[in-house]
Amino acid sequence: MERVALITGASRGIGRETALLLWRQGCRVALNFSKSAGAANAIADDLNCLRPGSAMAVGADVSVRSEVERMFTEVREVLGDPEILVNNAGIALPQKLLTDVTDAEWDRLFDVDVKGIFYCIQAALPAMIRRKQGKIINISSMWGQVGASCEVPYSAAKGAVIALTKALAQEVGPSGIQVNCVAPGVIDTEMNGNLPPEAMEALQEEIPLGVLGKPSDVAEAVAFLASEGANFITGQVMCPNGGMVL
Ligand code: NAP
Repeated sequence: MERVALITGASRGIGRETALLLWRQGCRVALNFSKSAGAANAIADDLNCLRPGSAMAVGADVSVRSEVERMFTEVREVLGDPEILVNNAGIALPQKLLTDVTDAEWDRLFDVDVKGIFYCIQAALPAMIRRKQGKIINISSMWGQVGASCEVPYSAAKGAVIALTKALAQEVGPSGIQVNCVAPGVIDTEMNGNLPPEAMEALQEEIPLGVLGKPSDVAEAVAFLASEGANFITGQVMCPNGGMVL
């Protein structure tokens, strides 16, 4: 039977590419968006034209518990219980010194990048535990592993995602659920759109493989962790980063 995958933040970038790859591998996919309804609906419409009933777009700000719960209800009604949950939705702040970060900026970042994952996992777990089966893949960042100057809140949030992954993997392992993390390096998406070209060039020069990552590079890692080939892998951090952080 086709597996159901829910991918948060799937209207563009890494989430979109991950949803497309899981769909190509035979999953039915729920593409979550917060603001970009048009983009998410267009992807789902295209997929449904090719394989009717195989995709849906579902709105929810992952930082709002009631919206996350409604999202899971809608996905269950249309596609079924998600067996794969990809917690990809995330935001970053403009680069600035920690001394200039406001309470509101700190709270918003943690609400989306950490609490959103907490809410989605709480909504997904009961059905996974009942079925003794499930794959949860959380998107962190290499900055959550090594920290980045002028990105202290983002680094702290993404570090929390790694710790959450490791702790939960131990907690739900006995229920047959794998929890893993993907910590990408510099990926060419809109998230980096506010960086000047010189900054992107400088980052590229620091990457041993000499190229920026593509959303598909991250999607491939996620798809592997979601596959049966990764059934004995849990609590791990996979790092598509071109060798930038070792
Ligand atoms: P992106 O192009 O900016 O896309 C972000 C996605 O998240 C969009 O689909 C957006 O949808 C969604 N989103 C944002 N806030 C949301 C919320 N509150 N609720 C639900 N969805 C929300 O970013 P990306 O580069 O693909 O990044 C995806 C993930 O990878 C993030 O967690 C990011 O931190 C991580 N990452 C990225 C890089 C990189 O270099 N790009 C590197 C390491 C890690 P709407 O437009 O509908 O809000």
